[in-house]
Amino acid sequence: MSNQRMPTHVMGVSLLYKCNFSCEHCGYIYIGDAEDHIIHPGYRLTWDQVVTAIKDCASLKDSYWNMNYTGGEPTLWEEEGKDLADILIATANAGVLPTFNTNGSYFEDYENCHKFFYRYLNNTDTPLKTFISMDKFHKNYDQEKGRAKSLDTIAKVIAAFPDNKRDLLPVHVIIIVTKDPNSSLPEEMKKHYGAMGITFGDFPMLNIGKAKKLSDQMPEPFDFGPMRQKKGNGPPGMVLVGDDYYLGSKKIGKLGHMLDLYPDGV
Ligand code: SF4
Repeated sequence: MSNQRMPTHVMGVSLLYKCNFSCEHCGYIYIGDAEDHIIHPGYRLTWDQVVTAIKDCASLKDSYWNMNYTGGEPTLWEEEGKDLADILIATANAGVLPTFNTNGSYFEDYENCHKFFYRYLNNTDTPLKTFISMDKFHKNYDQEKGRAKSLDTIAKVIAAFPDNKRDLLPVHVIIIVTKDPNSSLPEEMKKHYGAMGITFGDFPMLNIGKAKKLSDQMPEPFDFGPMRQKKGNGPPGMVLVGDDYYLGSKKIGKLGHMLDLYPDGV
């Protein structure tokens, strides 16, 4: 039976600096306003560091972690024949829920896309949510036709899986919006892909990273509704960069020592 539990904690994992896009609003490779983080050209987490982080998450009793892999572009991560799919499989097999953010470019190619998801589902029955960033800054969709090659290909690949496997591969498009009320994706496009089960959500451009230069386009702060409450003293989530765990812009812990942050458990 597939695992559809809701996570209790979230860890963002910045896998590498490298990206094949150069979006003018990029905030992914920045940790809030932190000046001391190490995501610079050449930055890349090693396989050993990733495995240590997975063990950290899996070791906290009575919790169910979601590890969300980002970059740069996480599909570009590789080490000695291992790639992002290996990381996601290792995460799932350790009892942690994997998700990842991508610009979708890797999935435009049918063979790549099929191989990636096929290999994942051949090794685990844990759901894998794919978040695709798509907006006018990424320029990764056809603005005239309201179609995206990555979404077309992913939808085709997922449709080829049997019913019981399709549910394990949800896809959500994150749209970075500005103060321009028309900055979201076209409604017709959302409807077209929505019929295939792909969901969409607006997310405000944040005043971090390169986006700081676009302050004239910055939207009003969003109301995300009440934050989920969590019992216990430890943080509800964090971001891993190199050997350090961050909460917002602040370093709070060391890789391999996450349990120190939860002395009283969850
Ligand atoms: S926003 Fe994403 S796709 Fe664009 S440059 Fe930054 S990491 Fe790459």
